Amino acid sequence: MHKNRVNILGTEFDNFTAKQFHQYLDDDLDLKANKFIVTPNPEIVLSARKDNNFSKIINNADYVIPDGIGIIKGAKSLGTPLHERITGFDTLQYLITAANRKQAKVFLLGAKPEVIQASADKIKKDYPQIDLVGYHDGYFKDESKIVEEIADKKPNIVLVALGSPKQELFINKYRDQADAIWVGVGGSFDVFSGTKKRAPQIVQKLNLEWFYRLVKEPTRIGRMLAIPKYMNLISKAKKSNTKD
Ligand code: UDP
Repeated sequence: MHKNRVNILGTEFDNFTAKQFHQYLDDDLDLKANKFIVTPNPEIVLSARKDNNFSKIINNADYVIPDGIGIIKGAKSLGTPLHERITGFDTLQYLITAANRKQAKVFLLGAKPEVIQASADKIKKDYPQIDLVGYHDGYFKDESKIVEEIADKKPNIVLVALGSPKQELFINKYRDQADAIWVGVGGSFDVFSGTKKRAPQIVQKLNLEWFYRLVKEPTRIGRMLAIPKYMNLISKAKKSNTKD
């Protein structure tokens, strides 16, 4: 890995199609490989610029995939286009489908108690071949018990939804406890469980999913201000590239 990466304002993204990525994940599951997937959006790219330790954690992950249309636009604008957007949610869905096909062991961590319960119930109902070895909400005081449980249950996939950077820091610290595919999936359980709706297909196709989320959750406005700031940095980087 790390062969074909595209640097966007300091974060290095893998440049592959979703199909190629899924093939790697299938191989990893077959080999019981220990892998860490991160799914940065513009907000995470900006956070990584401010925090060197976080930046190293992101760039040292096994897969750095572009979640968010801003990343695709930024890459294109810098003259180093990426194949396609691959979201954390799509990755979660692929891994769950693959786990069902391969009868793999899955551990879920994060989100509110009722959301993680609904996600676990959905897995048991719709993906009966999955061996759901454990699940826990993301509002815990003592993480050591959860980590012990993960080490003990030896899952093949650990889906972590604690928000960023919490989930990436957690995975980086504990990934050696189980040879699994570890992935930070942000608010994906909220959507997977049906608690929150993802934007309709047409809105997704128009690249307006960010707008849909803003209308549904206006408190995200502070976080969304990262997008114009990011686009501004992209145009500055583009200008200095063309000067070189
Ligand atoms: N969360 C959690 N523990 C915390 C903080 C957040 O489990 O201490 C969960 C929260 O319930 C939500 C997810 O982490 O399910 C983060 O969602 P957000 O929408 O912020 O993530 P995004 O998809 O934007 O990265």
